[in-house]
Amino acid sequence: MREDSVTQNQLSPGVVPGRLDPGAYDENFADLHPPLDDHEALVAADRCYFCHDAPCITACPTEIDIPLFIRQIATGTPEAAAKTILTQNILGGMCARVCPTETLCEEACVREIAEGKPVLIGQLQRYSTDTLMEKGEHPFNRAAPTGKRVAVVGAGPAGLACAHRLALHGHELALYDGHDKPGGLNEYGIAAYKTVDDFAQDEVEWLLEIGGITVETGQRLGRDMSLAALREGFDAVFLGLGLGAVNALGLEDEDKDGMADAVDFIADLRQAADLSRLPIGRDVVVIGGGMTAIDAAVQAKLLGALNVTLVYRRGRDRMNASRFERDLAASKGVHIVTNAQPVAVHGNGAVREVEFEYTDDDLSPTGARFRLPADQVFKAIGQALEGEGLPRLDGRKIAVTGAGRTSVERVWAGGDCAAGGEDLTVTAVAEGRDAAEDIHKSLMG
Ligand SMILES: Cc1cc2nc3c(=O)[nH]c(=O)nc-3n(C[C@H](O)[C@H](O)[C@H](O)COP(=O)(O)OP(=O)(O)OC[C@H]3O[C@@H](n4cnc5c(N)ncnc54)[C@H](O)[C@@H]3O)c2cc1C
Ligand code: SF4
Repeated sequence: MREDSVTQNQLSPGVVPGRLDPGAYDENFADLHPPLDDHEALVAADRCYFCHDAPCITACPTEIDIPLFIRQIATGTPEAAAKTILTQNILGGMCARVCPTETLCEEACVREIAEGKPVLIGQLQRYSTDTLMEKGEHPFNRAAPTGKRVAVVGAGPAGLACAHRLALHGHELALYDGHDKPGGLNEYGIAAYKTVDDFAQDEVEWLLEIGGITVETGQRLGRDMSLAALREGFDAVFLGLGLGAVNALGLEDEDKDGMADAVDFIADLRQAADLSRLPIGRDVVVIGGGMTAIDAAVQAKLLGALNVTLVYRRGRDRMNASRFERDLAASKGVHIVTNAQPVAVHGNGAVREVEFEYTDDDLSPTGARFRLPADQVFKAIGQALEGEGLPRLDGRKIAVTGAGRTSVERVWAGGDCAAGGEDLTVTAVAEGRDAAEDIHKSLMG
């Protein structure tokens, strides 16, 4: 046993690794929803009414024919079910793991409305896509080459979905990403317990089996290439850049030791070969109310932090994180404080306390203050678009019309970097796919 795992425990002060017994990490970061077996899948599929005008379909941003794929599972053809899903959503495997189904398809399911218990659409989707991928099958074939070349910048869900759909239509794709690995936030952002066993990379490899896509990582737009050069060298360009910058709290001393961006912490966690070596505080404070804040708080707790407090400036009902996510955090022991915003960071060199002030519903300060002890603070108050020389913006994102057309001719955008839409994996896939169809139409005249 390593020295740090002997000497550190949950009570140790500071930001240290190895707070838990070595075996606890695997247990804590195991699959959040273990996969259904064949029998469980048949039982779950049997609950579907195969509704005409099914509300679950319209609630899905990629409009998967849910009753059809569930019927295909019920009749013992999960591979056909997978093709139904993947035709609409090529990252159906990841979306089955990460979609907030409780606010999308499963919320709309008639069995949820009638009985408070939806058909397990997400888990059935995972069952069928996993079955197909485990067989190593790629169920799509490319059309004859068109001779057209398209550059896709950003290999996250939007870029991957766009590249796959264009490759399917016979175009040649160059997919660039600034990171070392493709996948975007599937690889660097999603909570570890939602996508275990390196699924994000397996899915990218599987997706690339379509052919016609070259991937170049470590290539940044604005540093290694310009938009003008891409427009010159390719027939069309798709930007799926995501939101690479992080909003600041705007407080003095917000760079004290122990203060970090939640997305950086999560990326480090996702890339860690050994979680017992990842340092974590004893008293952790997370500031924010969305999925990133919840994921940082839950994973800090799972790494062995003794006290994790998530503080959000508005009321609980205004949190962007879904009820399921909030309940998950509470079940792991995360303490959630609402209607409070940070006003000062205290500590000599390193953070020791964060001071908050309670707020009214309209965010006006009430004058009542409190302090939370903290040796580590994660800021999760939103991400922003990064980069210069981009097409015209609408607010803080790239302005688009129709299926992702930007202000620059032959340049499309989609996913988190584009204005409109929710910042979800499934929305990014839908936007990448729809932009690809529009690019295809415009290229083929
Ligand atoms: C911590 C966290 C947890 C989340 N959890 C969930 C969840 O559970 N469920 C869910 O539905 N959604 C979740 N989301 C949201 C979801 O991950 C995003 O909506 C989705 O990944 C957006 O896809 P995208 O392709 O637009 O962008 P991204 O996934 O961000 O991918 C953008 C890619 O572009 C690359 N890039 C950026 N700039 C450049 C450049 N200049 N040159 C080259 N490459 C560049 C980046 O390296 C990156 O690979 C989460 C987000 C975060 C931050
Ligand atoms: S709404 Fe529910 S019951 Fe109806 S088709 Fe969709 S999953 Fe089946």
